[in-house]
Amino acid sequence: MSNVTEVSADLAKIVGAEHVLPGSTAHYLHDATEARGLLGFADCVVLPETVEQVAEVMRCCYERSIPIVPRGGGTGFAGGCVPQGGVVLSLERLTKVRAFDPFSWKMHVEAGVPTGRVHRLARENGLIFPPDPGAAEQSQIGGNIATNAGGPHAFKYGVTGAWVTGLEVVLPPGNIVEFGGPFRKDVAGYDLKSLMIGSEGTLGIVTAAWLKLLPAPECALPVIACYADAASGCGALERVLGSGLVPAALEYLDAGTIAASGGAFPWPLPEQAGFMVIAEADGTRAEAEALCEELREALGEDALELYSPSARETEPFWRWRHGVSIAVEAALGGKLSEDIVVPFEHVGRAIAATVELGDRYDLPALSWGHAGDGNLHATFLLAPDDTAALERADAAARELFALAVELGGSVSGEHGIGLVKRDALSSLADGTVRSLYAEIKDIFDPAGLLNPGKKL
Ligand SMILES: Cc1cc2nc3c(=O)[nH]c(=O)nc-3n(C[C@H](O)[C@H](O)[C@H](O)COP(=O)(O)OP(=O)(O)OC[C@H]3O[C@@H](n4cnc5c(N)ncnc54)[C@H](O)[C@@H]3O)c2cc1C
Repeated sequence: MSNVTEVSADLAKIVGAEHVLPGSTAHYLHDATEARGLLGFADCVVLPETVEQVAEVMRCCYERSIPIVPRGGGTGFAGGCVPQGGVVLSLERLTKVRAFDPFSWKMHVEAGVPTGRVHRLARENGLIFPPDPGAAEQSQIGGNIATNAGGPHAFKYGVTGAWVTGLEVVLPPGNIVEFGGPFRKDVAGYDLKSLMIGSEGTLGIVTAAWLKLLPAPECALPVIACYADAASGCGALERVLGSGLVPAALEYLDAGTIAASGGAFPWPLPEQAGFMVIAEADGTRAEAEALCEELREALGEDALELYSPSARETEPFWRWRHGVSIAVEAALGGKLSEDIVVPFEHVGRAIAATVELGDRYDLPALSWGHAGDGNLHATFLLAPDDTAALERADAAARELFALAVELGGSVSGEHGIGLVKRDALSSLADGTVRSLYAEIKDIFDPAGLLNPGKKL
């Protein structure tokens, strides 16, 4: 019997034969980097239903020295869940809401619960779970934690990690442990919960999380402004922060992004629109209305057009905003999209540099993103089968990473390092830091079997 047949038979004893799929099952071999042609390969796919099964699966793989690749919703942009051999462990059947206490604003959910379900459950009870990454119906809470996902409202509310108080994790070779719990403060030991958050499935498998929630703001009022060019738009962004205003979200779209996604924008756009700023005021009705007025004033100077959606129009508007990434990809059928982060004062320079790189490498280039956080989705468009364009886009991305570091920023503000950005991490961390990364990995996963080849 081959090793693959043997391990599949052992895994079937743990989870049931119907929950072990052939390694060739296409759904489990890619994530959102498919748009740049990344496809993996696996020995088999296993779908456990409980934390105990996750632990047994890990033990079985560890004993046989078989790599394990944790998979959430497969919406990652870094190839983090794309297998390079071994067993794909999908968390999709861990979908229980173990506890929900609206009166003390907390929820205990299993890793496979889709982000959108957490949003809805909180909302139906007058609460919010603020992290709002764009693919919320497909991504899972476990994947959001493993990538420390952000989103537009991270500007005011912070990224996923800020909303996690406890984790249940399976550590190699198959031990179930808890970090933190249903309490909001904990300084007793080392902060291992935070080490897990953003570790991209390389240190442990998250099986459940205690999430902190917040009473929903009474009112959220977006303000959208269009400008002729990036210079006037970036001036407006600086006026918002410079005036001490704190919107819930502060976003931008450059000219190329408006061209690719503006067709579905809910209102007519000015013909000369070359830059868009999106801000949102929230709070009690009185607070939101007062902040909205101040935002209109700060954004209105130099604007071609200002929009203030009504309460009824707000949700369709954000749905459009969350679809920008997909609209951009549809322009040529593929894209290489990065997520560099720079200090706020350098956002304008990074936006201009993305377009300049596109000109130099003969690729349509554009960007949009979370301006208040200095986080750019700098993107090069390509046809899916154009390997020469992909090589040029890779080279352009390398220059972009170097620029982000030179400006005092980082190569990834949201999507993580995964498979596709491993080389970029070395440009960021010096030798001492790199050794610490390697030693931490070694402590948690001494045989190097958990999501090998990712992040480090
Ligand atoms: C249209 C679109 C819009 C997006 N918008 C945003 C955005 O605004 N902000 C943002 O941050 N991201 C965004 N993303 C990227 C993506 O949705 C996030 O990175 C998300 O957190 C990935 O979650 P997932 O469940 O799909 O994880 P996957 O893609 O399945 O996996 C991502 C990584 O996490 C690991 N992993 C998954 N589950 C677990 C687990 N339970 N335990 C341990 N490791 C695990 C995997 O091994 C992999 O390394 C967007 C993606 C798309 C397609």
